[in-house]
Amino acid sequence: MSRERRPLTGKEVQEFKQKLLEQKERLWQEIRETLLGKIGRDYQDQIRSVNEWEDLAQIDLLEETVLGVLEAQKEELEAIAQALWRIDNDEYGRCLECGKWIRYKRLQIRPWSSYCTDCKGRKEKKGISG
Ligand SMILES: [Zn+2]
Repeated sequence: MSRERRPLTGKEVQEFKQKLLEQKERLWQEIRETLLGKIGRDYQDQIRSVNEWEDLAQIDLLEETVLGVLEAQKEELEAIAQALWRIDNDEYGRCLECGKWIRYKRLQIRPWSSYCTDCKGRKEKKGISG
């Protein structure tokens, strides 16, 4: 059963959507905490209202070094945004490389997965991330 590849039901997709939104909120929480620690109190109000990557550009003091610290979160947020886009466009759950269904168990661990384990493994060998 665990190796099964099948389409997701509508209910499962909604569950993954919920997980993705929760993970997105967790990441922004992390980012806000990092920023508060890095650039201090003068920007508290601005930082608290940050919810999208574009909002960060509005904070003048944000230097490249600070953004560099957030690189991992940024990548994950982009993957989440893409997964949410695929849900809205009925494309969620398929591997972007080979088009096969990504295993349910893999999506449970990483709902923002874009590739099946086979393609992901091949990409990593070639040194391509994603
Ligand atoms: Zn694949």
